[in-house]
Amino acid sequence: KLYNQVQDLKGSIRVYCRVRPFLSGQPNFVSSVDSIEDGTITISIPSKNGKGRRSFNLNKVFGPSSDQLEVFSDMQPLIRSVLDGFNICIFAYGQTGSGKTYTMTGPKVITEKSQGVNYRALSDLFLTADQRKDTFRYDVSVQMIEIYNEQVRDLLVTDGTNKRYPFTKIRNNSNKGLSVPDASLIPVSSTNHVIDLMNLGQRNRAVGATTLNDRSSRSHSCLTVHVQGRDLTSGALLRGCMHLVDLAGSERASKSEATGDRLKEAQHINKSLSALGDVIASLAQKNQHVPYRNSKLTQLLQDSLGGQAKMLMFVHISPEADSIGETISTLKFAERVA
Ligand code: ADP
Ligand code: MG
Repeated sequence: KLYNQVQDLKGSIRVYCRVRPFLSGQPNFVSSVDSIEDGTITISIPSKNGKGRRSFNLNKVFGPSSDQLEVFSDMQPLIRSVLDGFNICIFAYGQTGSGKTYTMTGPKVITEKSQGVNYRALSDLFLTADQRKDTFRYDVSVQMIEIYNEQVRDLLVTDGTNKRYPFTKIRNNSNKGLSVPDASLIPVSSTNHVIDLMNLGQRNRAVGATTLNDRSSRSHSCLTVHVQGRDLTSGALLRGCMHLVDLAGSERASKSEATGDRLKEAQHINKSLSALGDVIASLAQKNQHVPYRNSKLTQLLQDSLGGQAKMLMFVHISPEADSIGETISTLKFAERVA
């Protein structure tokens, strides 16, 4: 028994774009965005003979004035379908500073109005589960991991500093439906508890940082929500899982700084983002062979992509004209999987 309109959602892969507004303290900036119309975004490309333009067609484009509520409302049916046993992956993709974390989590200081998808999704799941409590009993638990230089770390560890932040292994097709069975799996029943866990995850992420570089832009973080539901009349069980992924920055490292650790980080990021693009593109084309094994990120999500799974690739762009190179490469990535 499906409670929502998930059947009406077209296809299993959709691609959205969000354009960040100019930030305060950035007056007189030139925008690279020429126009936005439903799913089409047109970019102005400076050239010798005036201005060129290029349009990209995606499923939806949110302009700089779209707020968190508008963005979440659009994603709500997709997110709710986890309670009907669907697997969902939501990816935030884009160069550093384009607004990935803003969309998924919020700004540095989060108010009710600026809460990102993670908070809103969990509150909505708890609320909806409560509304169904006469017919369904739901158990929700979360995991939070980080992938840095192709190593997977548990971000929800609490015991002692030396045991903190261990590496975990990926196992596909495990019987409990967990692809990282060693990572902490924490039962949750309130949004506040989830907020505490997300804060713990952020703190653990900082503890593990080995360089002065902003760690969060060089690693992927993934909040996974596991849902088990029991139909109280028939006793039937269903299981769904939702991955909310804040990807590492997609920018190419500049040649001058790309040495040593930086180079290694950049290579790992590059490899895993293109592996993700390859997997989604081959799912979109319904290829027989899907190349999951090429990165930790795609291995992690293997059990939740394909089949009945629903995916949202949410690309982010910075509006400044001097980001045009990254903007175009982000939109090309989006177009390839759309
Ligand atoms: P990323 O995670 O892609 O590196 P951030 O989410 O940290 O980028 O965004 C960079 C800055 O822009 C932050 O200060 C953030 O609060 C701000 N920002 C991003 N998107 C928006 C938005 N849609 N509205 C207002 N501020 C935003
Ligand atoms: Mg970020």
